[in-house]
Amino acid sequence: MTPRIERRSERSAFFHTPNQFHAVSLSGGKDSTAMLLMMIERGMPIDLVLSADTGMEFPEMYAHLAKVDDYLFRERGLHITTLRHPKGFEYLMFDVPQQKKSAIERRIANGQALTGYGWPGVHVRWCTGQLKTHLISKEVNRLKGEVGALHYVGIAADEAARCKGEQYPLVEWGVTEAEALQYCYDHGFDWNGLYEIYHRCSCWCCPLQRIGELRKLRCHHPELWARLLDMDRRALAQFGPGPLGQFKQNWSVERLDARFAAEDAQISLTSPPQGGV
Ligand code: SF4
Repeated sequence: MTPRIERRSERSAFFHTPNQFHAVSLSGGKDSTAMLLMMIERGMPIDLVLSADTGMEFPEMYAHLAKVDDYLFRERGLHITTLRHPKGFEYLMFDVPQQKKSAIERRIANGQALTGYGWPGVHVRWCTGQLKTHLISKEVNRLKGEVGALHYVGIAADEAARCKGEQYPLVEWGVTEAEALQYCYDHGFDWNGLYEIYHRCSCWCCPLQRIGELRKLRCHHPELWARLLDMDRRALAQFGPGPLGQFKQNWSVERLDARFAAEDAQISLTSPPQGGV
């Protein structure tokens, strides 16, 4: 179904003074991609497209971002500006020296390594902060201060509660998450099927994803699953069985691997034989 996209009205919030600087955040997901494509289609000004790379995106996501970059360059003569932490996810997880006195004391008391944040958890999402939001907001705040930039963020209309004082075209246009995805598909951006497999397409190594998503990761991206097993073994060896070395509450990646393998074996036992008489 083609999404219902309302034309920009004369009273749109997106009429701004000429020469204003327009910075668009692009995660590469369906909502920010649809926002960018719609802004291009509607002839809205765009001066900068910012993306933060955690280094742990799916290969299909990197291919998608390259495709969006080509399109952006063809349409507007712009390339995506990609921001990266200088050392990346695994350095922060395993090797960054602890700075806080209290953290160092706690690590010593627990007999843990003095480097690395360990696996992120619900209450300690160091990765989102250090690899995404901090990088983007630092740059956006600089642009706001220097050139009064407006910052466009791809939040869909059904997630409007997340809006916090930036520009939200999808909310203004009433574009839902489902419509955003369909719009991308209709314009030839399909992430090579990634959204048909997974509900979420951010870091493949995220311990906050559901077990069902991890089951799919093992099945559809076995090379990434093998990396995840390695990372988890290393985390367990370095931090022990507490929250830092624990991938998920009650589940190491190795235990999940055994569970998924047992489920697969059960399915093949109960499936009727193919072919036959
Ligand atoms: S998707 Fe997960 S691992 Fe990636 S930055 Fe967000 S919380 Fe961290």
